[in-house]
Amino acid sequence: MESLKNKIMSEGIVLGGDILKVDSFLNHQIDVGFLNEIGKEFKNRFKDVKVDKILTIEASGIAIASITAQYFGNVPVVFAKKSESKNLDSDVYETKVYSFTKDRDYAVKVSKKYLSEGENILILDDFLANGRAAVGLMDIVKQANANVVGLGIVIEKGFQDGGQILRDSGVRLESLAIIDSIADGKLEYRD
Ligand code: 5GP
Repeated sequence: MESLKNKIMSEGIVLGGDILKVDSFLNHQIDVGFLNEIGKEFKNRFKDVKVDKILTIEASGIAIASITAQYFGNVPVVFAKKSESKNLDSDVYETKVYSFTKDRDYAVKVSKKYLSEGENILILDDFLANGRAAVGLMDIVKQANANVVGLGIVIEKGFQDGGQILRDSGVRLESLAIIDSIADGKLEYRD
């Protein structure tokens, strides 16, 4: 997605440890107009797929998923919760995910009320690095006996393992921009 590559070029900041910061439009301040373009692009990439629900993970996935859902006929969006919360039902699907940015494991939970057997689930997230978040969300869908019909990622860091692992597993993965290297703060994109 050319406009996304340009946006990352002009607004992205490379931090040490191969972290890309896109706080000006995706992870802190949200550029709603641009997220609409992202939503349309996800619809275009998954136009042949029947989607009953979109699943993402808090926090940054929520805005992406909510805007994208409007292009899939306002399907419900469910976001997996990372935080311990007294509000969350006790009857949950739960998995453990290692956080790349925080360097620790955390529990991810979805109430059993909001994922049902046989539903077609599109998983969306902001970044793909080593694939732990995506694998965790796929595990939750599996626990619900629902179907993962695709995985949509805004920015894939292609120099980390996640993309390869997921493609090899046979899941349909669509990344809107794939960065193949971050060398000396300079980004190289995959075509
Ligand atoms: P993974 O689980 O694929 O290793 O990492 C993906 C998750 O870590 C995403 O949900 C995202 O929140 C976070 N993440 C990984 N790499 C980056 C990065 O370079 N920048 C930002 N902002 N988040 C990242």
